[in-house]
Amino acid sequence: MSYQHQFSDGTSFNHPLGKVVCVGRNYAEHAKELNNPIPSTPILFIKPATAVTPFSEAINLPYDLGECHYETELAILIGKQLTKAAPEEIDDAIAGYGLALDLTLREIQSKLKEKGHPWEIAKSFDASCPLSSFVKPSELKDGSDIEFQLKINNELRQHGKTSDMITAIKPLISYISKYFTLMPGDVVLTGTPAGVGLLESGMALEVSLDSALSVESRVL
Ligand code: ZN
Repeated sequence: MSYQHQFSDGTSFNHPLGKVVCVGRNYAEHAKELNNPIPSTPILFIKPATAVTPFSEAINLPYDLGECHYETELAILIGKQLTKAAPEEIDDAIAGYGLALDLTLREIQSKLKEKGHPWEIAKSFDASCPLSSFVKPSELKDGSDIEFQLKINNELRQHGKTSDMITAIKPLISYISKYFTLMPGDVVLTGTPAGVGLLESGMALEVSLDSALSVESRVL
């Protein structure tokens, strides 16, 4: 596994990949599609650095572990240490915007949820986080409402915009930093919009972020 943060302009980020902090159910339509209640505070979980693979490399699924679902998410690259940071401090700490898949072993997750157990195995397994390169904030036309989408075999499957998030980016990262210090090189995944589904061998994937970034991959 060799992953290093890159920017879409060809430059690389001078801090190594750290942890990936993720939020569950940050879009109301997605919470509904899985029959989950909308949470009153963000539901957080972490993927370790070993979960990350470059998005542009083919996706190798653990087919022996049951159904694996894609969740397309806006990924924020952290550029500054944040501990108990206020929402006003977050802008300065965002080094880039990218896209990730929060791969989820849905059958295993459902069984763990039924028992009230943590879902770590279903979310944080090796290669569970294909991650794209990052667009620098200055390259985005409108940082206040970022749109992204996933196409599978050329068909639109997911479309999200940050204005639909239940907890917006700045309060979300502020909330995360109350519990987990974020370091330069850490990544925050901001939740998936509706349209999640099963990944199957042979699928061609394309994710794009506004008109600033587009990355292709495929499922082995
Ligand atoms: Zn997710």
